Amino acid sequence: MQAIRERVGYDVRLRIDANMAWEVGEAIQELNALADYDIDFAEQPVDWQDLDGLARVREAVPMPVAVDQGCFTEKEAIQVIQKKAAEVIVVGLHETGGITGMKKLATVARAGGLRLCRHGVMGETSVSTLTALQVSASITNQTAGHQAMHQLNENDIVSTDLLRFEGGDIRVPDGSGMGIELDTDMVEKYARKYEEDGPFWPCPTKPNDP
Ligand SMILES: [Mg+2]
Repeated sequence: MQAIRERVGYDVRLRIDANMAWEVGEAIQELNALADYDIDFAEQPVDWQDLDGLARVREAVPMPVAVDQGCFTEKEAIQVIQKKAAEVIVVGLHETGGITGMKKLATVARAGGLRLCRHGVMGETSVSTLTALQVSASITNQTAGHQAMHQLNENDIVSTDLLRFEGGDIRVPDGSGMGIELDTDMVEKYARKYEEDGPFWPCPTKPNDP
C-alpha cells in the first residue's frame, strides 16, 4: 500500500478488501499499520457473520469500514446499523436480487446514515454495470467511486459505445429503458458457450471442477 500510494499520489482513492481473511485482532493490527496511506475504506476485514467483530474493528481503526458479504438485504442492513458495524455497504444487483432489492437496501442504509458502494462481480457483463449505473444515479447516499469489472472481460454483449471510461467515469446512458443496446451476435455466441461450458466460474458444473 505504501508503494501504491507513493506511485499514484494522494489525489487517488485507495481502498482495501480483505474478503474476510482476518480475525478481529489481526484486522485491527493490519489496518492500523495502514494509517498513513489515506485509505478510503476497508472492506469486509472479518467473517461475514461477525457483525460484532466488525464493530470492534470499526472502533479501533483509522479508516471507514465497509461491510460486503455481511449485508445483502435490507434486514441485514438494519443489523449493520444497529450494531454500528460499518460506515459503508458494498453491494450490487447480483446480491440484492435485482433493482428493487438494491433500492430497498439503499433506503434503509440512508435512514441509518450509511453510504452504498456498488459491488462488482468477476464475470459480469456490461449489462450489469450499466443497469447498476442507472440505479446508482437514482440514490443519494453513495460513495464517490464504485466497483466495475466488465472491463476485465475479453468481449462484451453490448454494442454501443457506452462503456468507455473518461477520467475514471462512465456516462449514465440516456436511451430508452436501461439505455443498453445488445450485440445480438455476441449474445448468440455466449449463449452457445453457456450451453457447452455451463455458468462462469465460480459455479462448478462438472464433478471434477476445482
Ligand atoms: Mg468485497
